[in-house]
Amino acid sequence: MTPTLEKPEEMQPLLDWFAQTADNPRAQLEAALARGEKAVGCLPYFAPEELIHAMGMRPFGLWGTGGLSCSLSAGYFPPFYCSLARTSLELALRGSLRGLCAVTGTLLCDTLRPLSQNWAAALPGLPFLPLACPQQRQEVYALTYFRSQLEGLARRLEELGGRPLDPQALQNSLEVYNASRAARRRFVALAGWRGGLIPPLTRCQVLKAALFAPVEEYLPRLTRLNRQLEALPDQPPKLPLTVSGILCDSPALLRAFEGAGFTIAADDLAQESRSFRVDAPQDEDPLLALAMRFCAQSADPLLYDPDPALRPRHLVRLVRESGSRGLVLVLQQFCDVEEMEWPALKAELDRQGIPSLVIGADQEMTDFGQASTLLEAFAERLG
Ligand code: SF4
Repeated sequence: MTPTLEKPEEMQPLLDWFAQTADNPRAQLEAALARGEKAVGCLPYFAPEELIHAMGMRPFGLWGTGGLSCSLSAGYFPPFYCSLARTSLELALRGSLRGLCAVTGTLLCDTLRPLSQNWAAALPGLPFLPLACPQQRQEVYALTYFRSQLEGLARRLEELGGRPLDPQALQNSLEVYNASRAARRRFVALAGWRGGLIPPLTRCQVLKAALFAPVEEYLPRLTRLNRQLEALPDQPPKLPLTVSGILCDSPALLRAFEGAGFTIAADDLAQESRSFRVDAPQDEDPLLALAMRFCAQSADPLLYDPDPALRPRHLVRLVRESGSRGLVLVLQQFCDVEEMEWPALKAELDRQGIPSLVIGADQEMTDFGQASTLLEAFAERLG
């Protein structure tokens, strides 16, 4: 029998820091405000954090919040609306985002477009700075267009008290964010091959902390954690799994994965790997490099790809390369983007002999008993 890996003593304080940061975003925001920083809320997806950082402001991740019952935002959205949008607006209406000077977001789905309008109506004191992204990303005009969008966003940030855009500062920010993305990719690979030493909830906290912490504090800690994990021998976990979906950050749901015996060996989550898969290239025009970073994204259900087989192939490769025994899609309720693509993905997974499971979830959900039962049954099927 393979011996269980021992967690090095010095690893726990690091993991505690990631957990506290991920679980207390408000404390991070308060700390930024106390230092006199201006903070900008970053709604999904592909927020240009580097640009905000380069202008001396703090990018602050805004992906709704779990277990929040929406009452104030119910005046703006019907109950059958994506909970990521509803809980984000609810947080703002309840004052939990007090101190942000603006919120920015891309308009990549039929939920985010009305959100930008409703936000403006509900919260005139907290400007919504929309960022329109091109879907035809393969053409040169897409780069020109998106660069102009980013430039427009920079002008708005400047009006809100950000520093004037300095190309050298942006170049520096691109480098530090590229390093942070590389460290997160490394962590994802290491966490999957350390015999289940990093349970699903811990893995999520390590990655989620990047949404709220200053990159200068996050990156050195993650680098240290990666070194500690690298010093341990490779050991595949008992039930490695690939998780897909928009996000999977509910502690109760992540404990259900752990309870069923799963280790997350790879993910295709928008909040996690999809957000740090692509780096900005080197270019003498750093704003263009930032536009290139977005235009190089692919195999994402929110983005158009000329080759419809690209995404199914990507998921199959993720499962195979991570040694996963199957794939679980955590499907956000009322997310038509993910609902519509699932039949094609499932057909390909079936054709490749990869077992899969769909779990419905949303940000208002508190009881994951049914998900827990489904995961246990899935584990038995794979075991
Ligand atoms: S979860 Fe789906 S519907 Fe909601 S914002 Fe994201 S892509 Fe749009």
